[in-house]
Amino acid sequence: MSKITIAIDGYSSCGKSTLAKALAAKLGYAYVDSGAMYRSVTLYALRHGIIKDHGFLEDEIIKCLNDINLAFQFNPNTKSSETFLNSENVEKELRQMIVSENVSKVSAIKAVRTKMILIQRELGKNKGIVMDGRDIGTNVFPDAELKLFMTADPDIRTQRRYDELLSKGQHTAFLEVKKNLLERDYEDTHRKENPLTQAQDAIVLDNSELSREQQLEYVLKLITDLTLSVN
Ligand code: C5P
Repeated sequence: MSKITIAIDGYSSCGKSTLAKALAAKLGYAYVDSGAMYRSVTLYALRHGIIKDHGFLEDEIIKCLNDINLAFQFNPNTKSSETFLNSENVEKELRQMIVSENVSKVSAIKAVRTKMILIQRELGKNKGIVMDGRDIGTNVFPDAELKLFMTADPDIRTQRRYDELLSKGQHTAFLEVKKNLLERDYEDTHRKENPLTQAQDAIVLDNSELSREQQLEYVLKLITDLTLSVN
């Protein structure tokens, strides 16, 4: 079966990466979390005092892009790909609330997106990849053979992100988590550069009532149908 490109877009905390990871493991594909790239730039800017009190100068963020090197490595223990910012594994730090609170403003900067998209396209040039984000099917890989647009009830999404933070030892109030998700959804859908929108040829997957296994089964069936119709 020839390898395809799978693009998964959707709102914050819809379970995009959980599904993407499971698909990649099942198909023997690479998995790339494009959100982790925007989070890495944000983390770098926070650590270097470029973002202060939720504000920053766009020029300073653009300047620091030259000092940022991103790499991804598969961890066989966690069975997932981890992000390295200038050779440091930052997987845990990337999910901190302070990063979530600033990332949508950083990701709206054109030069940031240009650099990240270049890396994303390079990673996916040989296909056999599952990438999740906000503009993967619309902009990064407009020719992807399979595009999914994921959505779920906001309270269910909040609970998922709340549980994820808790499992990492980060206690954040439920309502604060919800506020952040809704704010990011708003900013991500309303920005000028590559906003989150559903690609015309994307298949909508509302997973509010679906288990992880049901989602995986559903998408694997889509892939089988797709490859049967192509081959
Ligand atoms: O997927 P995740 O929630 O980790 O993404 C964090 C943020 O990165 C999003 O809220 C969005 O602002 C930005 N992002 C983006 N384009 C992508 C992936 C993520 O703008 N392809």
